[in-house]
Amino acid sequence: YRAIVQNADSKARNALQRKAPLPQDGITKVASLYREHTDISATLNSKRNERSSVGQRIQRAAKDQEAKGVLLEEAKTLKEDIAQLEDKLSVVAEQLLHLALMVPNDTHPETPIGPEPAAKVIHMHKAQNLEMNPALDHVSITKALELVDFDSGSLATGSSWYYLQNEAALLEIALTNYALTVAMDHGFTPVLTPDVVRSDIASRCGFQPRDHSDPPVSQVYHIESGASSPQLILSGTAEIPLAAMFANKIFPAHFLPKKVIGLGRAFRAEAGARGADTRGLYRVHQFSKVELFAVTTPDKSPAMMEEMKRIQMDICSSLDMPFRVLDMPSEELGASAYRKYDIESWMPGRGGWGEISSLSNCTDYQARRLHIRYRPNADPNISKGGSPPTTQNDTAPALPFAHTLNGTAAAIPRLIVALLENGVELDGQGKILAVHLPRCLEPYWLARSVMPNT
Ligand code: AMP
Repeated sequence: YRAIVQNADSKARNALQRKAPLPQDGITKVASLYREHTDISATLNSKRNERSSVGQRIQRAAKDQEAKGVLLEEAKTLKEDIAQLEDKLSVVAEQLLHLALMVPNDTHPETPIGPEPAAKVIHMHKAQNLEMNPALDHVSITKALELVDFDSGSLATGSSWYYLQNEAALLEIALTNYALTVAMDHGFTPVLTPDVVRSDIASRCGFQPRDHSDPPVSQVYHIESGASSPQLILSGTAEIPLAAMFANKIFPAHFLPKKVIGLGRAFRAEAGARGADTRGLYRVHQFSKVELFAVTTPDKSPAMMEEMKRIQMDICSSLDMPFRVLDMPSEELGASAYRKYDIESWMPGRGGWGEISSLSNCTDYQARRLHIRYRPNADPNISKGGSPPTTQNDTAPALPFAHTLNGTAAAIPRLIVALLENGVELDGQGKILAVHLPRCLEPYWLARSVMPNT
């Protein structure tokens, strides 16, 4: 809170540039709620001290009935005051947290300002002679080759739910194992995450369980749970459970960076999504995603972002598809990203570029909200190893916050779209002759079945 209050003007300007869904006077309101919170906490503390001193005086006045009566009355009033103050403090704390969670991260000075078209292309791969050809549309390919069963998905669950079958099922497994292997080769350790998370953890990562339209629309699937248990949601991305793995921890600086590669199912309500995007596999409600996640010290996070971008680009180029890398503009950064790169693949059947991966440096946005800190090394020559991370407690000194980064290694359905549309070979009549899949997947194709048409 202090960081917002102390930099109120620049935070307000930044929120405006990012078109953050924050009320116009949001930052001023955070400042006044923060003052109120500090005042109430101070009064509450002094009332608690008073009550304990009255308690001691009551014990000492054991035989003096008159004095004891006065003190008991005083203790009763103090107890009522404290209860009132505690209620008030929790209301103010909730309002403060709600508003503060809407305040977006700062923005990298080189980030283009504006909406999506302001994105800056920073790299192109195999992007000559791109053609548009509706005959290469992935929906007709998956139908002709019986790769995806949308009818059963629709019957079992609803529209934009699907079954991957035959080579498409094997393709998901091969892509997953390939992406995991590449990431592990770069020192990322594998993790299988829970796909159900607490909604307050999602909020602390920068995902608000409801959007800000009126009435609010939920972009996530909520799970019914008892009133007293924490609200649970289906996770929209493994980034959330991966970030939570590091919550409330203090890392000796020489333990960082921590690099993990997670595999999870992503669930997205995609409320309001319409049109071409909802055809076929492009925008679905559930998909498998391999996710890179890193925790670093602040000085190392820009280099880590470049390392993660190189891994993503390595994966895309060995999958042999035309792609471009974009430095995303201010209005596309969401709440948590300080800087964001997207990779788009050319999708000839869709007739344009389609996003296949995304990479964000969240700097200390998530770390502040999840209490991920590090202890700077006292001795710069300190050897690797040393003492392990500790769990944070209330008495921990104010140590600096770490930085977190997340990036897509493989979002399966979009990769399937790109591979099919770029790899299919048709005859003169538009009949499918073959689908050419990239050689890098061969070692990951499941036992005994031969990878087709490579
Ligand atoms: P995000 O976490 O929103 O940045 O998404 C990460 C990646 O997941 C994107 O780059 C897309 O490739 C993919 N993706 C996002 N939403 C969907 C969806 N509804 N269906 C299929 N793939 C998606």
